[in-house]
Amino acid sequence: MSDVRNVIIIGSGPAGYTAALYTARASLKPLVFEGAVTAGGALMNTTDVENFPGFQDGILGPELMDNMRAQAERFGAELIPDDVVSVDLTGDVKTVTDTAGTVHRAKTVIVTTGSQHRKLGLPNEDALSGRGVSWCATCDGFFFKDQDIAVVGGGDTAMEEATFLSRFAKSVTIVHRRDSLRASKAMQERAFADPKITFAWNSEVATVHGDQKLSGLTLRDTTSGETSELPVTGLFIAVGHDPRTELFKGQLELDDEGYLKVEAPSTRTNLKGVFGAGDVVDHTYRQAITAAGTGCSAALDAERFLAALT
Ligand code: FAD
Repeated sequence: MSDVRNVIIIGSGPAGYTAALYTARASLKPLVFEGAVTAGGALMNTTDVENFPGFQDGILGPELMDNMRAQAERFGAELIPDDVVSVDLTGDVKTVTDTAGTVHRAKTVIVTTGSQHRKLGLPNEDALSGRGVSWCATCDGFFFKDQDIAVVGGGDTAMEEATFLSRFAKSVTIVHRRDSLRASKAMQERAFADPKITFAWNSEVATVHGDQKLSGLTLRDTTSGETSELPVTGLFIAVGHDPRTELFKGQLELDDEGYLKVEAPSTRTNLKGVFGAGDVVDHTYRQAITAAGTGCSAALDAERFLAALT
């Protein structure tokens, strides 16, 4: 059994590394579980990041995350590229178990496990991520000036992405598997009124084409099975996100969609000494800078919680 640490951080995206940086600089010697396969978080799967402040010419996603990691390590954060497989967060001393079965103990835990965007499950989808295939219009819309692009989905997010993208794109085709939308009336009306937006109803993406870059899609009619070609250079997938909260069910309060509930604007969860930050909490903004911002808040909340214990 390990000594009782001040802070354990679960997750290593912008939220986790920022929480690690701040708690390390406060001499709290944080232990960070980075994840076994996906250390560095969502930005490890992208190319250019042009909207993280401080990088005038942009920076590659993996490079940004390597810098964040090194910065946290420089101040004494202990980083472990492993998954946490179970937790007990209810007592004053929290326990966190890794894949080898080792139990780690701490007075505070910061949860920054992020959320997973849903995929279409097609070959080529991952290979072309950052090369025409995207899950974030705010992040990547600017790269698609005057291009023909497609948005997949029928909910509010898809409509919001499509109307945002129509500012840059030559045309936006919304691909939806049914003949009516799930999105709210107001969002639908905005999309219907936009002259750049058209709809491919009763359609799903059958194939994503392209070698180094996306070159087009094959669509399949969900009623007749017939296929057609859609020559686009951008594909935005807006079919939902799944917050990574499985581990915390039954202990931490989650909302209807499984996101971690916090007492905003603080990062406090329903359990004393447990804090949440980044996309695992955030339905709305889902940006690296907002994740880093709340990671900082969680570190300061944990620091103040620990100070009040002494
Ligand atoms: P994440 O980055 O998702 O990190 C969560 C981490 O937790 C992961 O490393 C995961 O392995 C780890 N983890 C999960 N469960 C466990 C466990 N049980 N044990 C240990 N570790 C665990 N945002 C921008 O601002 N600009 C962009 O240009 C941009 N481009 C993007 C491109 C792509 C392809 C994607 C997918 C997202 C992009 N985003 C962009 C969004 C941005 O990446 C996210 O908002 C941000 O990464 C969220 O940070 P996070 O720290 O909350 O979670």
